Amino acid sequence: MTTHAPNSWEARAEAHSLYGFTDLPSVRERGTVVLTHGEGPYVFDTNGKKYLDSNSGLWNMVAGFDHKGLAEAAKTQYDRFPGYHAFFGRMSDQTVALSERLIEVSPWDRGKVFYTNSGSEANDTMVKMLWFMARQEGTPQKRKILTRGNGYHGVTAVAASMTAKPYNELFGLPLEGFIHLTCPHYWREGRDGESEAEFTQRLATELEDVIAREGADTIAGFFAEPVLGAGGVIPPPEGYFQAIQAVLKRHDIPLISDEVICGFGRTGNTWGCQTYDFVPDVIISSKALTAGYFPMGAVMLGPEMTDRLQGAIDPVEEFPHGFTASGHPVGCAVALKAIDVVLEEGLLDMVRAGAGRMEAGLREVASHPNIGELRGVGYMWALEAVRDRDGKVPFEGHLSVSERIANTCTDHGLICRPLGQSVVLCPAFTLTDGQMDEMCEKLDAALKQVFAELA
Ligand SMILES: *Cc1c(COP(=O)(O)O)cnc(C)c1O
Repeated sequence: MTTHAPNSWEARAEAHSLYGFTDLPSVRERGTVVLTHGEGPYVFDTNGKKYLDSNSGLWNMVAGFDHKGLAEAAKTQYDRFPGYHAFFGRMSDQTVALSERLIEVSPWDRGKVFYTNSGSEANDTMVKMLWFMARQEGTPQKRKILTRGNGYHGVTAVAASMTAKPYNELFGLPLEGFIHLTCPHYWREGRDGESEAEFTQRLATELEDVIAREGADTIAGFFAEPVLGAGGVIPPPEGYFQAIQAVLKRHDIPLISDEVICGFGRTGNTWGCQTYDFVPDVIISSKALTAGYFPMGAVMLGPEMTDRLQGAIDPVEEFPHGFTASGHPVGCAVALKAIDVVLEEGLLDMVRAGAGRMEAGLREVASHPNIGELRGVGYMWALEAVRDRDGKVPFEGHLSVSERIANTCTDHGLICRPLGQSVVLCPAFTLTDGQMDEMCEKLDAALKQVFAELA
């Protein structure tokens, strides 16, 4: 237990700030890391210590922490028109331009966009759209929402109900009508002797069974991340989305791709659905949408959903929903710039070029016998720690192995995120080869230290 001087940043942080998703024993023991600024993929704390942030903030700071063009886009727009809403038939010119651009880079030839301030609100908004459409179409019972175990869709009451994590029980969630299917993680959920293709088939059959049990006419939508992010970086098993989408189509259930993490390059393509070769009915975007330089989320409706929503709106002449800052002109200007930076100015190319180096570097780190699985794609990877690799036996919970790894990494000047028994690496797309090697070397040193301590 460390005590900090009463006027220190650490003590001041603890005195007046509440912490979300934070292991409080670690904070009490180690103090809060209070950050002042960043350079490229590095951040600096109040003591001047430098960290390579291998999580690019929370998956979102894909252009690093000091991108001049993004800051400039915000400054210019603040001078032009620093804020407006998108209600009552008014919206900023930047909002108009961003919607055009988003549909242009979408997998569809037409569609429409609704703005929020976060990914959670975007998922929440989509659920409300589905409920609104169901009632307007004379099928008010069509309200149930399907998601997968370990799926992460945010923290508002509805998005948390979609998020299939045990901690939501602490809030008495999920709400009624949110159904969680098996997590599509072959390494953990696959049965002895079951091939990956058979595992996929079993998941498709499970979906078919759940639809039969609940009644297709009671299910409003199926939400899925192309790669589960906060669930531990879990890419889909072979043929997964093709198998799932065939079932959904047969029952006329829309597939909503929650691309809050995967969208804008993380998997090596603009969209995760392109990496896994499916076209969803809806895309939910946030995080890299503004490269983390402004809080913003977007619901992007494909052609059929656009028409369905319009049909539902017509009789009541209004969609009574929106946030004060929906389509904020500064956020839209930043997003327009971020899309250019990622898609036109080389960041996506850097992911494509660097993904092999990242995988190779992490494979070497993962050769340690206490790493059970290395999984990922593009610039999102996780290493899962195990007590015994062959039996896939996890470390005892009280050892908080991934917290230890993350804390030891922090000591070595590397920020990475503990998630269950895994450690997540999802760096900025701008990483140089040298920075990539630094990340792998520091992770390797930290893992060796922790596993030696736990041996
Ligand atoms: C982060 C995340 C969200 C929630 O976004 P917030 O901006 O934190 O509300 C939703 N879906 C996925 C896949 C995410 O990773």
